[in-house]
Amino acid sequence: MDYYELLGVAKGASASEIKSAYRKLALKYHPDRNKEEGASEKFAQISEAYAVLSDDDKRAHYDRFGSAPSAGGFPGGDPFGGMGGMGGMGGAGFDPMDLFEQLFGGMAGGMGGRRGPPRGEDIETDAQVSLLQARAGEDIQITVARLTDCQHCGGTKSEPGGKPPETCATCQGRGAVRGQARTIFGVVETQQVCPTCRGEGKQIVDPCTVCHGRGHTLKDEEVTVKLPKGIDEGYRIRVAGKGHQGPGGAGDLYVHIEMEPHEYLRREEEHLIYTAPIGYAHAVLGHEVDVPTLDGVQKIEVKPGTQHGDTHRIRGAGMPRLQGSGSGDLIVAYDVVVPRPSQLSPEAREALEAYARAVGDDVPHKSGEGFFGRIGKLFGRD
Ligand SMILES: [Zn+2]
Ligand SMILES: [Zn+2]
Repeated sequence: MDYYELLGVAKGASASEIKSAYRKLALKYHPDRNKEEGASEKFAQISEAYAVLSDDDKRAHYDRFGSAPSAGGFPGGDPFGGMGGMGGMGGAGFDPMDLFEQLFGGMAGGMGGRRGPPRGEDIETDAQVSLLQARAGEDIQITVARLTDCQHCGGTKSEPGGKPPETCATCQGRGAVRGQARTIFGVVETQQVCPTCRGEGKQIVDPCTVCHGRGHTLKDEEVTVKLPKGIDEGYRIRVAGKGHQGPGGAGDLYVHIEMEPHEYLRREEEHLIYTAPIGYAHAVLGHEVDVPTLDGVQKIEVKPGTQHGDTHRIRGAGMPRLQGSGSGDLIVAYDVVVPRPSQLSPEAREALEAYARAVGDDVPHKSGEGFFGRIGKLFGRD
């Protein structure tokens, strides 16, 4: 779902073009005006698109990563979270109705500030992602148990062929009741969703025998999750409208990303690390090792005199930078392995003994070891 496409504007559209496109669409799809199926979901989507594209920071973020900041769970907190006091866009429960009322003064179309029936609840789930999937920014499929409209009654809650619903006695079918709210301007009259019918204006007489009048059933559904390139452990991706279905539209799905462990490679942000075990003789004399990169095995040269802990960088063979451009490196870290006595063959032992005789007690200085290293040697360290 592309926010620009949703609003029908070009990528470079100005703030006023975006606002006017949203106004038109919001009026068209507002659930109070448009009773067509899917209208409220569409309304929620265009409102979400507008919430992001009308905010310079969020828009810049979206242009860069293809998702709203709140979708990322970025370190430092949810950027939507800090907006609670300003625009009425409370952190977690961003409500498109609030945005609509903000833009139209809450009175457009004679709405009088009435909120529609509530959206369904959000769903939180985990997904395991491989290094290859994270590098490519693939779409992954996950299965989510969602409350969706009951197939038997089509979400009407009434048994098909049974008694039709009656007008709600509490609100006389208006879906809203009068209430009072304390604001900075004093106590004002408000309209609230009717507690009896939850805004639907009617009461079920003959409940559906499958969903028992709930209007929805739990069903497994395949959901496509678009991964931003370079996604990493601990991030959270939001899929709008894939939470539970509610009377006022669906909630959102939040997918927590876990990285599948790789057999050979360890990830540190945008870098991949491969620990390459090499034998002592090869470290001294030079050799080559096979490095398992994400694109297959690559041979690299082990330089003569390679020290334990030395590294070699394969530039750009790491992961794409999530917040930036380009890719990290694959770092080969040499692990010079000293064999245990039981691992030595008689020939190897003999050869080592010959080597020991040849060099005697002479331990070469480490390069760059300097004064303190030499002091250590003076005191008999070997
Ligand atoms: Zn049903
Ligand atoms: Zn009612």
